[in-house]
Amino acid sequence: MNFPPRLIDGYRAFLVSRLRHEQDRYRTLSESGQSPQVMVISCCDSRCSPEMIFDARPGELFVARNISGLVPPYTPDGAQRAVSASLEFAVQALKVKHIVVLGHAQCGGIRAYVEESEPLSPGDFIGHWMALIEPAAKAVGPRGSRPFGEYLTALEQAAIIQTLGNLMTFPCVRILAERGKLALHAAYFGVATGELSVWDKASGKFAPVAAEEHARLFASPRF
Ligand SMILES: [Zn+2]
Repeated sequence: MNFPPRLIDGYRAFLVSRLRHEQDRYRTLSESGQSPQVMVISCCDSRCSPEMIFDARPGELFVARNISGLVPPYTPDGAQRAVSASLEFAVQALKVKHIVVLGHAQCGGIRAYVEESEPLSPGDFIGHWMALIEPAAKAVGPRGSRPFGEYLTALEQAAIIQTLGNLMTFPCVRILAERGKLALHAAYFGVATGELSVWDKASGKFAPVAAEEHARLFASPRF
């Protein structure tokens, strides 16, 4: 099979747009190395690219993506742990100042957990992975107590908050967070609307950001 033509076209567009404007930045970053201030942990979902949502420039975001954007609790067992390795590098080597856990609406991983989907392969990697959100599911309560869509949203958001808690089980994260040198944040992207909400610890809720701009630009049909 050939390399996807859509990607070649995309690269051509990158040459005349992003690369033309960012050429100096790329060159500088190649010499000085990267020093992003922000790590983003997010879902693999193709609709939720952190670089796109946050309009990031090269070198600005250190991104780790996996199914539903989860972080397993600290487990120094010598196993190959991709999230832990990414986190270790971001915190200890890059010394990022912020970690943003970005979840999203219509998350297939969360839905698979709720619907107890059949394994996609004998390894059932998704099933084992999504079992991580069991504490979040317990916190949300029984599924039948509210409309299904609302339940899914609640669980998607609870899983993000649980991930923040799991991050704090890593000594390097906890120590720096307690010293005020590292801040943990939670955010939620509404795929259908493009709305971004950020976790407000005081109220215990996700609150929309840039809501006025969003409403002004998208509240009414554009055509
Ligand atoms: Zn997802």
